[in-house]
Amino acid sequence: MSSPLLEPLTSLEAHEIPPCEAGESESCNLPTDIVLRSSDGTRFGAHTRNLGIYSHGFPKADSVVHTKDEVVLSEDSDVLMLLLKFMHLQPQPDLSLLSSKLLIKFANAAEKYGVYCATGVCKVMIDLSVNDQPFEAYLYAQRHGYPSILAKAGKLAITQEPAKFFAYAHSIGDTSWRDLAELETHNLPTKEVWEALKQYPDWPPIFGAWYYKRELMRETVFEILKSPIPVQHKGGQMRCADWYPFYIEVLGKMGTAVPSEKIFLQAIESSLPRLNGCGHCHIVINSMKIRMNSLNTIARRPLASFLN
Ligand SMILES: [Zn+2]
Ligand SMILES: [Zn+2]
Repeated sequence: MSSPLLEPLTSLEAHEIPPCEAGESESCNLPTDIVLRSSDGTRFGAHTRNLGIYSHGFPKADSVVHTKDEVVLSEDSDVLMLLLKFMHLQPQPDLSLLSSKLLIKFANAAEKYGVYCATGVCKVMIDLSVNDQPFEAYLYAQRHGYPSILAKAGKLAITQEPAKFFAYAHSIGDTSWRDLAELETHNLPTKEVWEALKQYPDWPPIFGAWYYKRELMRETVFEILKSPIPVQHKGGQMRCADWYPFYIEVLGKMGTAVPSEKIFLQAIESSLPRLNGCGHCHIVINSMKIRMNSLNTIARRPLASFLN
């Protein structure tokens, strides 16, 4: 018996415009005349006059669906509440208290809707916290034209999230950022780079070039490994008994390891105890390390040269 009564009540509620909750200490008494619905389904009562005064095109910019009763936005409720707070004549929220994730989302929304009393402070805050989310900060700076943040965020993104940045730079056709980022992917597993690249439609040729470069590095690692220089030990032997367990262990590790200088040196370092301090074998190891320069020659070659 209760459901026929509940139905009309729910639809009545849906047509009501909720009071404004964006005033300082939730004390806004201005009449609400529009409902904004966030992407996660929260309905906010707002004032069209304030929206007109404090924004340039809110809520009529893109990603907006007008229905008879409310305007549906692509922003979530946290972002929408911040936008509405900034569209009141009141002290504004302290953006330094926001998580870096929310700050970026809000900054992008403020730019999108032209909420100019928020865009400047957002830019300053993102510049200060660029280290937290360099890749997102890079996208923000690129989208809204902030070159000083762009350069800083790009360099940080390359070192902190090289595979992600490499794939993104490729997707937008930015070959110089792409090749810079590629230089930082040499210590990453193949799978991580492939998974970053395959998010974009035209990944096969670039992954092919990247993998070809990796295979050349692997060949070079094994060229160095398979021909250790002979060093005469006491008694005239070229190798001592300690060499073989060391050598077999390093070969085993590098068989499945990422073929980079860093990983190669780590493999040698972790197996050194097997040499029991043999000074002659250390001469062999040192010659291997010097020969690693040929690996650097390949590593530093721009990826573009592998695509042609
Ligand atoms: Zn209000
Ligand atoms: Zn030895």
